[in-house]
Amino acid sequence: MAWFKRSTKGIFTSTEDKKEAPDGVWNKCPNCKKALHYSEQVEHKYVCQYCDYHLRVGSKEYFEIFFDDNAFAELFGNLTSGDPLNFTDTKSYKNRLVESYKKTGLKDAIRAAHGKIDGQDLVIACMDFSFIGGSMGSVVGEKIARSIDYCIEHKIPFLMISKSGGARMMEAAFSLMQMAKTSAKLALLSKAKIPYISLLTDPTTGGVTASYAMLGDINIAEPGALIGFAGPRVIKETIKKDLPKGFQTSEFVLEHGFLDFIVDRREIKNKLSTFIRIMNN
Ligand SMILES: [Zn+2]
Repeated sequence: MAWFKRSTKGIFTSTEDKKEAPDGVWNKCPNCKKALHYSEQVEHKYVCQYCDYHLRVGSKEYFEIFFDDNAFAELFGNLTSGDPLNFTDTKSYKNRLVESYKKTGLKDAIRAAHGKIDGQDLVIACMDFSFIGGSMGSVVGEKIARSIDYCIEHKIPFLMISKSGGARMMEAAFSLMQMAKTSAKLALLSKAKIPYISLLTDPTTGGVTASYAMLGDINIAEPGALIGFAGPRVIKETIKKDLPKGFQTSEFVLEHGFLDFIVDRREIKNKLSTFIRIMNN
């Protein structure tokens, strides 16, 4: 039975010779598998410098990318979810929320803030995928609605950064109502002639795609992002046909007329700031 016995030692490095890297300093690019140092990631706006893969980041990083000197005032930061349905799946929704607060340090799957982009006022609402899959519940909808009211009151352009698995099932119909609420508020913003820019990042799906993410005066996306309503597997099983290559990527969605342009994250601040300058004049 020699075949399952290890004849040579697998690891030769003794403990004192091992090189330790503190947690989070190095990250592997999910696409090309090359190691990316944290300081390089910051420098390249969290885009892999080898293969241009756009790493998934959250509101902290997007605020840092867009706002001048990373200075901003957070808006409506104290809103938290209730549990209107007393919902339980594998665990109770209340517990799931408490665990998510601890794990992410966030209050829900979105943060809104007012700051400056190249000296011009801008309100950004940015979703966080790390908080229950970036799911849209009543807090997400309410923060977007209040941000829009704030933009109308102060006459400031609104940038929405979407990153979501869709509606939050633990709030069921309350989540779905957010689609109508945010869409109605965006209509008011449009009436007030205030620019609304929607940025779709990887992934943007479900009820988010079916409401505010696709309602921008301009709809833009990061390269290679998954953008769709239902997932590819569900669609394939429903229509019983193979899906075209590149289905539901930003590039595919652009080609089919649902996006205005795709923009590299390293150039996005510059492009949006120019766009806002044109719209403000
Ligand atoms: Zn890479």
